[in-house]
Amino acid sequence: SPSLPCATVSRRPLRPGFYVARAMSSHIVGYPRIGPKRELKFALESFWDGKTSVDDLQNVAANVRKSIWKHMADTGIKYIPSNTFSYYDQMLDTTAMLGAVPPRYGWESGEIGFDIYFSMARGNASAHAMEMTKWFDTNYHYIVPELGPDVKFSYASHKAVVEFKEAKALGIDTVPVLIGPMTYLLLSKPAKGVEKSFCLLSLIDKILPVYKEVLADLKSAGARWIQFDEPILVMDLDSSQLQAFSDAYSYMESSLAGLNVLIATYFADVPAEAYKTLMSLKCVTGFGFDLVRGLETLDLIKMNFPRGKLLFAGVVDGRNIWANDLSASLKTLQTLEDIVGKEKVVVSTSCSLLHTAVDLVNEIKLDKELKSWLAFAAQKVVEVNALAKSFSGAKDEALFSSNSMRQASRRSSPRVTNAAVQQDVAALKKSDHHRSTEVSVRLQAQQKKLNLPALPTTTIGSFPQTTDLRRIRREFKAKKISEVDYVQTIKEEYEKVVKLQEELGIDVLVHGEAERNDMVEFFGEQLSGFAFTSNGWVQSYGSRCVKPPIIYGDITRPKAMTVFWSSMAQKMTQRPMKGMLTGPVTILNWSFVRNDQPRHETCFQIALAIKDEVEDLEKAGVTVIQIDEAALREGLPLRISEQKFYLDWAVHAFRITNCGVQDTTQIHTHMCYSNFNDIIHSIIDMDADVITIENSRSDEKLLSVFHEGVKYGAGIGPGVYDIHSPRIPSTEEIAERINKMLAVLDSKVLWVNPDCGLKTRNYSEVKSALSNMVAAAKLIRSQL
Ligand code: GLN
Ligand code: ZN
Repeated sequence: SPSLPCATVSRRPLRPGFYVARAMSSHIVGYPRIGPKRELKFALESFWDGKTSVDDLQNVAANVRKSIWKHMADTGIKYIPSNTFSYYDQMLDTTAMLGAVPPRYGWESGEIGFDIYFSMARGNASAHAMEMTKWFDTNYHYIVPELGPDVKFSYASHKAVVEFKEAKALGIDTVPVLIGPMTYLLLSKPAKGVEKSFCLLSLIDKILPVYKEVLADLKSAGARWIQFDEPILVMDLDSSQLQAFSDAYSYMESSLAGLNVLIATYFADVPAEAYKTLMSLKCVTGFGFDLVRGLETLDLIKMNFPRGKLLFAGVVDGRNIWANDLSASLKTLQTLEDIVGKEKVVVSTSCSLLHTAVDLVNEIKLDKELKSWLAFAAQKVVEVNALAKSFSGAKDEALFSSNSMRQASRRSSPRVTNAAVQQDVAALKKSDHHRSTEVSVRLQAQQKKLNLPALPTTTIGSFPQTTDLRRIRREFKAKKISEVDYVQTIKEEYEKVVKLQEELGIDVLVHGEAERNDMVEFFGEQLSGFAFTSNGWVQSYGSRCVKPPIIYGDITRPKAMTVFWSSMAQKMTQRPMKGMLTGPVTILNWSFVRNDQPRHETCFQIALAIKDEVEDLEKAGVTVIQIDEAALREGLPLRISEQKFYLDWAVHAFRITNCGVQDTTQIHTHMCYSNFNDIIHSIIDMDADVITIENSRSDEKLLSVFHEGVKYGAGIGPGVYDIHSPRIPSTEEIAERINKMLAVLDSKVLWVNPDCGLKTRNYSEVKSALSNMVAAAKLIRSQL
């Protein structure tokens, strides 16, 4: 049987009879690979542009890996992960490892190189990219494997063992990390043409032999540990899936002999049944749990934890940027140790640190106080180590006391608490918030005022964001140009966009969002309780990163945020001009949020601020207001049992923003995804007058959801073309789409619009596509 890790024993002489030295070791689930200043991003993009060589890219990547490993080793982390680096995505790495390359890339055999790898990620001249989707409930996107009964799996990427050896050559013994076979398969999709009924799990017998080869390879390179990431276990798996899970690991047992095996779970509690399955696995040395999000896991551990096994306790939050409350974590660890036994607890992160920002040292602009409350990935590594050390009689008293002072400063800071807002939110909960009249009555009142044709045309908000615009905004921010000049430039941009829309014949106009950098940042910068980092980047997909705002305090709106801009735009046209806001749930879900109050409290605070904005817009004469909830679905909890609670408060928060407007004010909302069949009732419950949704990449199934069963009287605009692609859709094609929609939707409720905002497209694309869209709408109108 595998040998257990040796404990780190304090060398300090012990006072006899006082206490017995104990050891606790430390572990990190995974680490961001983009680099503290997005080094990998820039290296990838210049390589893709043909500006730099393969060697350049590989050098940057090797340096990123080396500095991560060194940092962890120098800090004192015992179990340091390898193979958590990726040139694009860890699921794609697994696809490469298994040789599961879809046939359209023309790969047959041999080690998979950059050409095939990046073609799968980004497409090439002859084959489109593989699909990308959200990794659990994070903002990270992975490349979805496309599998069918005919895939020939083979060991086609030796990345795991190469990275292990690379670290070893640096003198660092690492724990190679693999996405576990169950998580891999259950996050895959059946390849095109493969029957929907095809069971992905039926492929398990075909992929396990490859996993076995990888394990053998790692063992012969000297690996003593292996970490399987199996976050799929936190989902509601059924008993046959759980059975497959046990079978898979039993099957690998012989290959696992001689290795210490860690199965890491994260992002939520492991449900009781899955926990039982997990505990029954013989070949496992240790189990990893997210103890930040998974509060019930503690009870399960109390009830049953096999003797002699290690518990990797994820107490340092990998999903946020807050400094850990070390003394609280210490208590949790103590409790765990009392249950599972001495030297059996390993301090760890709740999940991979991939989902937090990289290094706080680069934040030179943040004020000192706020900065003292934060910890990014590099600091979280230090926290994990400090917690582990304190169990071996080597507690760093200075660090612990400074930590508790910082925690106390955050708790008592007047910057965090605003009693008036807290009271307003408390008062909200007593009542429901609904507009006073029914949607059909409101729509009639609105139509009298707006007098729109059938199948009204509109767009989602943004128009192309040119480099000039970005520069102007940057210069204004840096105070290099005056406010007067700035406003003048934006005004000219609006005029251009308004004129274009009028010429195209669009019915409900937008101002184009030239004044906005980002739909969340623009609002966050004007609300109190928000802070912004300079380098707090988090990988979203491939080389793309986002820099979420930090919500640290109670939220207020010191003054109107969009009224100036929206009124200026409205004055430029006789047609209705949409006021454009980001909804509370989206602002919440795209920010790092407070961990000292429930998410819904924060969301209600934002809702109140947006409500004030909506009402100010209405007063200023804006009669159509769009409140984007692009990210509402993203916040949906992974566990079915928690979803209703979330949806109820999220929808409530949205309704709060517009419950006070007149019948004649038309409220639009927009959503960026199409698979919401499961949350359709909540969407209807939002009670917007018009909803525009992404649709062009899905089928008519979406529409039938609106049609079927539920009486949804409001306007609905399923996108008629995909804005993510530079391709120009023809009039005929769009007309055909509209006709298909009319087969399931009443012509009185249908709107015609693109899938999403146009900011990533250029003007020539936008002009042609919108012109065809309007032509298609007119054509169908004439046939009604
Ligand atoms: N109004 C925003 C825009 O058009 C909406 C963006 C989004 O849904 N992601 O850019
Ligand atoms: Zn969108």
